[in-house]
Amino acid sequence: MAGPIIIGNWKMNGLTKDADHIISALLTYSNNHKNFAKTVVCPPFTQLQHVKELIKNTPYGLGAQDCHVASKGAHTGDIAADMIKDLGAEYVIVGHSERRKDHSETDQLILQKTQAAQSSGLLPVVCIGETKEERESGQYKEVIATQIKGSLPSEFKGLVAYEPVWAIGTGISAKNEDIAEVIEFIREKLIAQYGENGKKTPILYGGSVKPNNVKDIFAIAELGGVLVGGVSLIPEDFLQLVNIAQ
Ligand code: 13P
Repeated sequence: MAGPIIIGNWKMNGLTKDADHIISALLTYSNNHKNFAKTVVCPPFTQLQHVKELIKNTPYGLGAQDCHVASKGAHTGDIAADMIKDLGAEYVIVGHSERRKDHSETDQLILQKTQAAQSSGLLPVVCIGETKEERESGQYKEVIATQIKGSLPSEFKGLVAYEPVWAIGTGISAKNEDIAEVIEFIREKLIAQYGENGKKTPILYGGSVKPNNVKDIFAIAELGGVLVGGVSLIPEDFLQLVNIAQ
């Protein structure tokens, strides 16, 4: 497996001045460090072009936070995966729990978005994870298995991010043994579905990843990286994650 990847999901945050502030700190870091972990930023659509210019010729990768299932057409306000690719991004997050909740996104829709992303040459970062109630009632493995089956295509070239909903933005990360258990479970499912290829899919963790817990999280076997929300907006903290990951 390649080294860990760190993906910063800015969510609905980031005016031009914020993008300038965050990226300028990242550029200072990359000017002073060589060979650090693959680091990707996912700003809102409105900042993608600007951030792309700022990170041109640097090691940083660029991603979007969602895409439409169609490649073009009468879908006012939506953005196609082809448009994201055309802009120069490499990644797109799909199926984030905030979209599943705010926009009633289903596994079926996420499957179509994943396929759209792949067809346009983007790497989809498919998010899965259980709610608090599903964790507490012990159903979490079933939920995750259903999400994997329902939202990943028959041929998958992308990343999977395990983000337990109850750990997102709460400051309470999942316990390491719980993350490890689910990541191992996801790996088994991926191998069952894709054989040898299932061994290669990076599996990320997301949910209250911070400088003070990332070291332990990175110690988890099979972990391919982290998907970071709040901390990705605080460049000093985000860069600490990058530094610890390398
Ligand atoms: P936080 O890191 O703010 O908990 O968010 C995680 C997340 O949802 C990343 O996609």
